[in-house]
Amino acid sequence: MASERTLSIIKPDATERNLTGQIIARLEGAGLRVIAQKRVWWKKKDAKKFYDVHKDQPFYKDLVAFMTSGPIVVQVLEGEDAIAKNREVMGATSPVDAAPGTIRKDFGVNIERNSAHGSDSPETAKKEIAFLFSKKEIVG
Ligand code: UDP
Ligand code: MG
Repeated sequence: MASERTLSIIKPDATERNLTGQIIARLEGAGLRVIAQKRVWWKKKDAKKFYDVHKDQPFYKDLVAFMTSGPIVVQVLEGEDAIAKNREVMGATSPVDAAPGTIRKDFGVNIERNSAHGSDSPETAKKEIAFLFSKKEIVG
């Protein structure tokens, strides 16, 4: 598996509890490199656009409210098999289902406030990275 890039977000529930560094340490510990990073506070239109794929889901409105409730840290991660590796380190969507030692098991509050986001495919990663970063902000 060649080197890949993926989009990671440290969500408002985690920035609020000052967990940014602990989450980054988990990602780096798994061999992922942070090659772009910034802290932003999304407007409603940003969150709606980012999660457009979920617009028909019952949780969409609450998710948009949550993701605009505080600052987030957005990152591009690079490494071998980065997309799958990031999702493995994050764990399942709900902390209840997430494996022991994963970010969502250890830090997630519930299925919505689950501390981290990771792209789910190469196509999504490309789209999500382009949504959040210009080429010159990514320094691999
Ligand atoms: N989410 C939620 N309720 C659900 C499913 C998902 O609030 O029943 C939120 C949660 O924050 C999740 C995000 O919506 O991370 C995107 O959902 P997805 O199914 O893409 O999960 P992920 O890829 O983040 O594991
Ligand atoms: Mg997803």
